[in-house]
Amino acid sequence: MALKVFISGKFYDKDDAKISVFDHGLLYGDGVFEGIRSYAGKVFRMQQHMDRLWDSAKAIRLTIPMSKDEMAAAIEETLRVNGIEDGYIRVVVTRGAGTLGLDPNHCSDPRVIIITDHISLYPKELYDQGLELITVSTIRNHPAALSPRIKSLNYLNNILAKIEGFQAGCSEALMLNQQGEVTECTGDNIFLVRKGELLTPPKEAGILEGITRDAVIELACESGISVREIPLTKHDVYIADECFLTGTAAEVVPVVKVDSRPIGDGTPGPITRDLMAKFHRLARNHRA
Ligand code: PMP
Repeated sequence: MALKVFISGKFYDKDDAKISVFDHGLLYGDGVFEGIRSYAGKVFRMQQHMDRLWDSAKAIRLTIPMSKDEMAAAIEETLRVNGIEDGYIRVVVTRGAGTLGLDPNHCSDPRVIIITDHISLYPKELYDQGLELITVSTIRNHPAALSPRIKSLNYLNNILAKIEGFQAGCSEALMLNQQGEVTECTGDNIFLVRKGELLTPPKEAGILEGITRDAVIELACESGISVREIPLTKHDVYIADECFLTGTAAEVVPVVKVDSRPIGDGTPGPITRDLMAKFHRLARNHRA
């Protein structure tokens, strides 16, 4: 059966799921999106994803043409018609078709697109052995120019960093901000462990406030591990005992090398492994 894609109220077969070439989502990256997971047919942290999508849309002055409840129902329906239980969901809201000029006022009809598919995670070895990062020269978008807190369709900043990472043989790339502080990776947030404490950059550093990041902070607090959101530099990364990344697709993934330097003893650390297991359980036992 062909995968069905939801576009503004109707389902289309994958090959017929099309939008206008005049859509400003295509012409200018003018739109917002979310990446969401479902586990055993239940969407993980639906409310948080809806809130972030609506906040992103508000920040770019885009009105989503449905309510959060309607969007949540459409996501569940898209999973159902595709028979997907453990899946990845991509929600995209574009500015809609307009003229060739930038003016969003000429765009009348924002498109709501929901695509679901089976999830492809990093290979299992990366969870067992940890991955390697490189700090790239592409600076994370300046928050005063285009806030990384907006999950916009314009991901070129991240793509340029990803290309640099791949060129160096790394599957993720660490991005700094204009002050040389650690921000995040191209599609994941970063955490360090130092002397038993969890450290992660604050939102002011210029990051997407990840939903997995929030969940991991909650899990750490519940386990009595102190968590501090503080500015971090490459130095903090190099002297950390442990390092890991969080993201909807990746969940929690250990990092064992950064810029060719081993982190800690060069293997996934105990706090990382504990939080990986706790997140795995949380995601799979959640009740919406
Ligand atoms: N940072 C960026 C730039 C991202 O694209 C993502 C993935 N959405 C994340 C962090 C992780 O966020 P989340 O845990 O909500 O997936």
